Amino acid sequence: MRDTGYDVIVVGAGNAAFCAALAAEERGARVVVLERAPEDENGGNSRFTAGAIRFAYDGIEDLKKVMPDLSDEEIANTDFGTYSEDQFFDDMFRVTQFRCDPDLVELLVRRSLETMVWMREKGVRFVPIYGRQAFKVDGRFKFWGGLTVESWGGGPGLVDGLTESAKERGIDVRYSARATDLLTEDGRVVGVRVKHPGGFEDLYAKGVILACGGFEANPEMRTRYLGPGWEMAKVRGTRFNTGDGIKMALDIGAAPYGNWSGCHAVGWERNAPEVGDLAVGDQFQKHSYPFGILVNALGKRFVDEGADFRNYTYAKYGREILNQPGQFAWQVFDQKVTHLLRDEYRIKQVTKVQAETLEGLAERLEGVDPQGFLAEVAAFNAAVREAIPFDPNIKDGRCAEGLAVPKSNWANTLSEPPFEAYAVTCGITFTFGGLRVDTSARVLDTDLRPIPGLFAAGELVGGIFYHNYPGGTGLMSGSVFGRIAGTEAAQGLRS
Ligand SMILES: Cc1cc2nc3c(=O)[nH]c(=O)nc-3n(C[C@H](O)[C@H](O)[C@H](O)COP(=O)(O)OP(=O)(O)OC[C@H]3O[C@@H](n4cnc5c(N)ncnc54)[C@H](O)[C@@H]3O)c2cc1C
Repeated sequence: MRDTGYDVIVVGAGNAAFCAALAAEERGARVVVLERAPEDENGGNSRFTAGAIRFAYDGIEDLKKVMPDLSDEEIANTDFGTYSEDQFFDDMFRVTQFRCDPDLVELLVRRSLETMVWMREKGVRFVPIYGRQAFKVDGRFKFWGGLTVESWGGGPGLVDGLTESAKERGIDVRYSARATDLLTEDGRVVGVRVKHPGGFEDLYAKGVILACGGFEANPEMRTRYLGPGWEMAKVRGTRFNTGDGIKMALDIGAAPYGNWSGCHAVGWERNAPEVGDLAVGDQFQKHSYPFGILVNALGKRFVDEGADFRNYTYAKYGREILNQPGQFAWQVFDQKVTHLLRDEYRIKQVTKVQAETLEGLAERLEGVDPQGFLAEVAAFNAAVREAIPFDPNIKDGRCAEGLAVPKSNWANTLSEPPFEAYAVTCGITFTFGGLRVDTSARVLDTDLRPIPGLFAAGELVGGIFYHNYPGGTGLMSGSVFGRIAGTEAAQGLRS
């Protein structure tokens, strides 16, 4: 085999890729990271995130291992609660309807805390997500939904921290370098063909780690695998995740795995651009729907907005919106709850209407049947169990009953003007189907035998998410499996 100076090639330069690269380097490997995007668009979907990351912790002592700079005041003023491994397992099994691969989930959950500590040692800083995951109760912040920590500086902070850490350790990072094919010799992966502005080049190494995202930015693959209509979804993140890594591996006999017709997709600003805009990041999302109602073109509600905490419903409601006539919906709120709306509702680039009366609002909801909307609100208002106290920190059981589509928690009448409404469509985040890996992150072939020299981590690994997803798990999955892939690839030549 020709030596081009590297032991491990990592394809992609997002969170999973850098965790893989850093783990391989830690084991003494000479590592190169190949990134398709030019440097000014680097970071993949990881850069678009808020950096929210889910891991199991038993209380403040575990959190201090991840955030050693938590102040005494923060600790005194916050109820961080706990998020046990059992809760993490329960969340994974429940939201995936018990489809997720138990061996992979075992690693995801049990390695989550130690991987956070490891990332921290590699220079990533973490802070509590006060803004999005905690409400103040009696002067004290209380976290909810099992999601407590984000990277400092959000997604950009995470990617920049990892990139810097990699470069400091002598890892080469090449931008505008698109892997197009896997090179094989006698059934072993020995390198990749790379396309860069100057042409093509073959790079050789002992191990290749694919960490180059799913196929969410590829309208042809979306339509083929997710189904009709998906070509019309907006892409929330990078335009570069077009399924290259998955295709390259399938081409040499890798096994497809997981929920190929499933994806993470949310309610997203209706007039957002076709693909993500780094200047806006994740702020096109509109995640406060549990406190209002969602109506379609007929004026009808079509999901239980309060079925669960937002972290456990948002990733599947994008599909519900895509399935509505015209692929859009309006989120409607009144003044009793507008103070609870997340910061993303206050950006410039929102499609928002406001009115002093419901009739006035009905006229302004573009594309919506006004009479249908008014009838729906009247029925909804009459169904709210107002005797049950409203509490955004818990699943309060304050429901709207007896409707075709019930609302299970946080139901409030729409009665206090001015009324506000926000237009959303479906924004796809990432795809769930991908490659099959074993617990050493080795890519398996269709006979379920490891393909020597090939590893995978991050979005392009299948079998972890089905139907739905607990918020903050994408980054954790990339970190845990990236670290495993890097460690295993550097150990060399297990086949
Ligand atoms: C708007 C938004 C908000 C999100 N918020 C969160 C959150 O707060 N918490 C959370 O856990 N998850 C969040 N997610 C999901 C999260 O982004 C992903 O789960 C995670 O970042 C995936 O990491 P990755 O390293 O697998 O992929 P990416 O970070 O997407 O990295 C893949 C990289 O591979 C590159 N690439 C593609 N093809 C090639 C090729 N042929 N050759 C070389 N390079 C290639 C891409 O350019 C990209 O840089 C969010 C996603 C979006 C879009």
